[in-house]
Amino acid sequence: MSDHILQVANLSKAFRGVRAVQDVTLAVERGAICSLIGPNGAGKSTLFNLLTGYLPPDTGSVVFDGREITALAPEAISHLGIARAFQIAKPFPGMTVRENVRIGALFGRTGPRDVEAVTSHALGLAGLQDLHDQEARELTVGQLRRLEVARAVAARPSLLLADEPCAGLNHTETLEMVEILRRIRSAGATVLLVEHDMSAVMQVSDTVMVLETGRLIARGTPEEVTRNPAVITAYLGTDE
Ligand code: ADP
Ligand code: MG
Repeated sequence: MSDHILQVANLSKAFRGVRAVQDVTLAVERGAICSLIGPNGAGKSTLFNLLTGYLPPDTGSVVFDGREITALAPEAISHLGIARAFQIAKPFPGMTVRENVRIGALFGRTGPRDVEAVTSHALGLAGLQDLHDQEARELTVGQLRRLEVARAVAARPSLLLADEPCAGLNHTETLEMVEILRRIRSAGATVLLVEHDMSAVMQVSDTVMVLETGRLIARGTPEEVTRNPAVITAYLGTDE
């Protein structure tokens, strides 16, 4: 098996002339926490939509775990082991934390026999054990983010795509989320993170990739990327 869990080659997507993703080639190492950063409109969400089958690419290919998944349906891709934690969590508000996470397990790669164990494991990874019987409507923004991550992890993905899990979190909650992402990686998953919070990105990432107007302009360790002049101009020098 390749030591790259995900290989993207020459991927492009345009919306009526807006070249949202332009000829992107990248690879994600198995077992890594890899972050994708870039200014608003850089194409990060579009790239996630291409990887998860929500949008078909114009050109290019996506290989996951040695298998071509380009333009497969979202359900097929999720069944193969890619899960996405959305930035805007939409839990069932009247259901408990545990019931919400259990739904992730039911629709994931777990047989019905293991659903309770997998649900408990996901709750533990996200630090939600003590909140398991609270209704989702009672949760704070930070707790909702953890619920969304737990729901995605309950599907037992080998690759977790996390879309801005630290957005809107305070410093303490951000540190908690960084710990949660590390635990998820330690439990065996690879993590691809889109995140605006630069301190979180720098703490947690093995590799950082930078998108600007649809193109990948840099890739390296957090230290390398921080020193890259093109990145400083495109992104780090702004107030975002
Ligand atoms: P990011 O997530 O990095 O902020 P996006 O992937 O959301 O960037 O957007 C990249 C570019 O593609 C932007 O110019 C955006 O306006 C455009 N775009 C994204 N989705 C659509 C869509 N469904 N229809 C038209 N334009 C889109
Ligand atoms: Mg986005």
